[in-house]
Amino acid sequence: MYIDTHAHLTFPEFELDLPAVIERAKAARLEAIINIALDDEAVKKSLKLSTDYPGYIFTGAGLHPHEASEWNDSTYEKFSALAKEHKLVAIGETGLDYHYKLSPPDQQKKVFRYFLQIAQELDLPAVIHSREAARDTINIIREENKGKLKGVLHCFAGDMELGRAALEMGLYISFTGNITYPKAIEIRNAAKEIPLERIMIETDCPFLAPQQFRGQRNEPSFVVKVAAKIAELKGLSGETVAIATAENARRLFFPREARR
Ligand SMILES: [Zn+2]
Ligand SMILES: [Zn+2]
Repeated sequence: MYIDTHAHLTFPEFELDLPAVIERAKAARLEAIINIALDDEAVKKSLKLSTDYPGYIFTGAGLHPHEASEWNDSTYEKFSALAKEHKLVAIGETGLDYHYKLSPPDQQKKVFRYFLQIAQELDLPAVIHSREAARDTINIIREENKGKLKGVLHCFAGDMELGRAALEMGLYISFTGNITYPKAIEIRNAAKEIPLERIMIETDCPFLAPQQFRGQRNEPSFVVKVAAKIAELKGLSGETVAIATAENARRLFFPREARR
């Protein structure tokens, strides 16, 4: 019933007990997990998870803006080969992060543009990360959208200038556990404003555990808390939010299945 649309299950935090983590996800009524892999090793491990848990764990692959400097010419070949074998459900995460600037902004912008082009060529949704870079994110998406761009703005931080631009361009917006943090007033206001048919939920685990588990490792089963908070804000039941956000995720990531 729930879909965690953004997890990092190949991080070392899950090395020791991943099967138990996935069992808890199933017990919490998660119907699928989109796992985001950000380097060759992670892609390999994630594809293995997709094989070990067929129809449950799906793989998206990209390069985090932090690692934009790692881009090289073979990146495109690699992604298109995987996409042609139907092994990926998304390209990303990709985008801009000016908070740490671990890669120079110019390099981040260049790589972000490449990935938005690749996503459209391969007809896959883009998973977009934007932190303290709203203006540039909006401009680049507008410029690179050849009318075929679909995707999600993940881990939305509440900047509604970015949010409205994303909605205008047909993107989905995804909320994580930080919506439950006491200071996250902007994020909660955004969740009230954004229509449910454009919202998705995610954990971004192992990061951003919901308030109740703050300081601990986050895991997919905790996505239920994100749905519950959105439900509370919108005056709906958790069940309604779970069903609607899962339907949105299926429409974006599994268009072939959804058409059946
Ligand atoms: Zn991110
Ligand atoms: Zn992430």
